[in-house]
Amino acid sequence: MTDYREYSTSKSIVGEAISPFVLAFHLTYKCPLQCEHCCFNCNMKKSQRIHEDIVKDVLLDINKVKSIKYVAFTGGEPFLYGIQPLAEMVNKAKAGGKTTRIITSGFWAGVDLYAENVLDILAKAGLDELSLSYDDYHAKYVPHHNLINIVKFSLDKGIKLFISTTTTENNIINKKFIIDILNKEIKDITGIIIEETGLAHTGRASKLQEKVCTDRYIGPCPFVLRHPTITPSLRVLPCCGTLPYHKHHEIGNLKKDSISNIIEQSYNSLFFKWLAFEGPVKLIERVNKAFDTQYTSAHSSICDACNYIYSANGVYADIQKYVSSNPQVVSIEEMVLQSLNKYSGPSEWFATL
Ligand code: SF4
Ligand code: SF4
Repeated sequence: MTDYREYSTSKSIVGEAISPFVLAFHLTYKCPLQCEHCCFNCNMKKSQRIHEDIVKDVLLDINKVKSIKYVAFTGGEPFLYGIQPLAEMVNKAKAGGKTTRIITSGFWAGVDLYAENVLDILAKAGLDELSLSYDDYHAKYVPHHNLINIVKFSLDKGIKLFISTTTTENNIINKKFIIDILNKEIKDITGIIIEETGLAHTGRASKLQEKVCTDRYIGPCPFVLRHPTITPSLRVLPCCGTLPYHKHHEIGNLKKDSISNIIEQSYNSLFFKWLAFEGPVKLIERVNKAFDTQYTSAHSSICDACNYIYSANGVYADIQKYVSSNPQVVSIEEMVLQSLNKYSGPSEWFATL
């Protein structure tokens, strides 16, 4: 499931301070859709899921990390959990003072009365935001009517709505297309935020030939270290993650440690700091310059560049060699960012009350 904040507005949140501020649960990779661009290869055969009790324990522990303001429930398709369990998790996060968000394809919203009831239950449980993914890929499975229902009833129930649409040069659905559909059915859509997102060629999307739009973002990663994510197998990722499994793209595992400890330890990683301060493309360029290598630095997105670092022969090893022999570069950048209030470490976010 893609989320407008996760992949589209990277340019706009680069200016935010580096500290953990969103905790996301990939509740399951099970999904009734099989979008061609799905970065996690989701389908109905993926049965692993995070148990509700684990979610609740994590939500208690995460209150120690005061900088975390958002909790996001995504997947896969979080609505496959059932409305009541989902509402309880939302309610628990809300009770901890977090802004709550669910990211969905809206496959469940075809029947008007049902869609209205579902959104009513979630709104009463404390759901602040719903992020709907809608584009050419999702529209093969989800009719426009579902989109209309979600918009209409979210507005009615006071849930802030975001629509994320993956656009490429080949796709028909884009922001304007969605606005036109909504304007025909809904009187006032001014409260809705619609964001176009780029395509990362990871997971199932690695087979897609679509040309990406030209204004690709290749700077510092706005998500790594800010957006820890728990997967159905209880691995903890350093970012919202658009990558298939890579053993190095992990900051810990809930089977072995608590989420607050894992997040704290992640701030010891020079590599992840480098991704946050300069981004994967710049890091590849630095390695090429230092070691006279010819690793590709032309990637369609920063996540594609990360995928390349982990999968292409020799790149990750050379990057580790470079990063560990240049710790002073990261230390200086960290000090500068900290002095500008653009970075805060564990002592600050554990202490902030
Ligand atoms: S709805 Fe989201 S999670 Fe499901 S297949 Fe499509 S992109 Fe993947
Ligand atoms: S995959 Fe890499 S570039 Fe993409 S969000 Fe994660 S850390 Fe950032």
